[in-house]
Amino acid sequence: MRLDKFIRPKSGDPYGKGRKYTEGMYCPACQALYHQGRWKWPRKGDVFRHPCMCSACRRIRDRFPAGEVHISGKYFNAHKNEIMNLVQNVITEEEGRSPLKRVIDFTNEKGRLCISFTDDHLARRIGDALHKAYRGDLDVKYSDGERFVRLYWHRDL
Ligand SMILES: [Zn+2]
Repeated sequence: MRLDKFIRPKSGDPYGKGRKYTEGMYCPACQALYHQGRWKWPRKGDVFRHPCMCSACRRIRDRFPAGEVHISGKYFNAHKNEIMNLVQNVITEEEGRSPLKRVIDFTNEKGRLCISFTDDHLARRIGDALHKAYRGDLDVKYSDGERFVRLYWHRDL
C-alpha cells in the first residue's frame, strides 16, 4: 500500500482547474468524458481514450469539498420535505449539466443539515435558490485565498 499518494501538496489546488486533461480522457469512477475542453456526461458514440479520474470524483474520494451549505432553523424543520425537494431539484439539474457539480455528503445534526459539494458554484446555486424561494437569512463566507465557499441559510418563522 502506497501512502505517498494520499499526501496532498502543500501549495496549489490538487483539484485545480488548471490541470491538463486531453481529449478523450474519461473518468473510470463516474464515466464522465473530457471533450472539447470540458468534462461532460457521455453520449452514445463518444470515444473513450485514457482513464483519468475527474476532479469531482477525487474530491468525493478524499471527502474534500469546494463548498458547503448549512441549513437550519424552525422553518426548515417544519417544512423539511418541501425544502429538501427544492435542494434536490437544483442538485439534479446542475449535476445533469456537469459531472463536476456533485454532492459529496449530507449530514444531519440536531436539526441542522449540512451538504458538501464538489463545486463552489453549486453550493452558491443552492443558497440562492433557498433565499429566493423562502427568503430567510443567507450568509456567504469565502475562505481566504481559496475557492471554498460556505453558505448558511437560516429561517425560524
Ligand atoms: Zn468522475
